[in-house]
Amino acid sequence: MNNLSRHEKLWFEDGNIILIPEGSTHGFKVHRGILGYHSEVFRDMFLSPLPANEADIEGCKGVKMYDPPQDVECLLSVLYNGNQGSLYDASVSVKFATVVGLIKMGHKYQIEHLVKAAISRLEMCYPRSLHAFEALGNFTGIDCPISDLTSQDSVVIVHLVRTLHLEVSASAILPAALYHCSQLPNTILALGVRMAGNPFTYCLPPEDLIKCLDARDKFLRLGILSLKTDFSCPSRSKGANCFSPNELTADDSRRNVAFQYDVLAPLQPRLVDTRVCRACVLQICKLHDEERKAIWNQLGKIFGVNSWNPSSCL
Ligand SMILES: [Zn+2]
Repeated sequence: MNNLSRHEKLWFEDGNIILIPEGSTHGFKVHRGILGYHSEVFRDMFLSPLPANEADIEGCKGVKMYDPPQDVECLLSVLYNGNQGSLYDASVSVKFATVVGLIKMGHKYQIEHLVKAAISRLEMCYPRSLHAFEALGNFTGIDCPISDLTSQDSVVIVHLVRTLHLEVSASAILPAALYHCSQLPNTILALGVRMAGNPFTYCLPPEDLIKCLDARDKFLRLGILSLKTDFSCPSRSKGANCFSPNELTADDSRRNVAFQYDVLAPLQPRLVDTRVCRACVLQICKLHDEERKAIWNQLGKIFGVNSWNPSSCL
């Protein structure tokens, strides 16, 4: 304990407990009263005498915590910042590791408001309306409420919601999160994902993995129905050389436009390099919007989240 380093901010000289995360030489000198005020688990921990084998550091009790250092730091930062923290300000984006750390720590130490705040942040990224879902794309825009979120992080989210049995409202994020999972490469679906600085591998629970694989079979079979609709090109009579939708799906080199898992993505960008005239593009996209809405409304059923209540606006 002699080589224990002090956290630069979360080390208070008048603190009366030093928390030492697992595998860390980094300590946090904080206050039992503050921790106990927020968490019954901490309150109980401090009521019983601390184990005799816990080291005293400069006359202050040190307690080992079986949590990664970054999760302990997330927890303490929010507890000491109160509602001033960025998690509570929807206009400020936060890091994914912060959201995950707070869900885990909030759940373990029974600090309900932390879990709730983290879940509402996730609800912004996994929305109930197709319009909001489309606006977020693959989370690459600057406006994403979780700044470094990627599609594969959806595996982590599903894992947490399922294994921690998070409250029912958390299941509202599952259909959109599972849709993202259904678009991931096989290796990620089978082997799971790791987060930086954490040896744990997050995997989809087997029943969710099956749902994702079934969903993607279904999406692939479905293809883009609007591209298979037969309608006559209004420009053709004027001599335009337009690939009709039928010809488009029949042309092998262009089949990937019509047949892919991502049935919810807007079609227009995928028609840019095809020889479909503007009038046909507009007509196809209009049909596709109806098709996407129908699929979106079925996401709860497809992924087995019966309580899901999609928002109707596209
Ligand atoms: Zn046309």
